[in-house]
Amino acid sequence: MTTNTKTFSNNKTGYKKNRYMGRRKVCSFCIENINYIDYKKIELLKNYITDRYMIESRRRSGVCAKHQRLLAKAIKRARNLALLPISPNHRLGSYK
Ligand SMILES: [Zn+2]
Repeated sequence: MTTNTKTFSNNKTGYKKNRYMGRRKVCSFCIENINYIDYKKIELLKNYITDRYMIESRRRSGVCAKHQRLLAKAIKRARNLALLPISPNHRLGSYK
């Protein structure tokens, strides 16, 4: 990792432009005009958690601030009701 960052900082010409310009993600909830994210829609919430069952960051998922707040609340509710696992260890069948 450290070697990578060194090489990136060495060639400053145009690297950042190429990486960050172009496509900008639009919030998928804004498009559908959603004001409430249902904690029971597990299939939807699954798209916004990582493989380690952490809530996906706004930067990666492209969700806007308003919907990220609703999404985080919905995911936490689902976790509380055991609809979503909290950690990879909580998957069914992993206890032996
Ligand atoms: Zn949004």
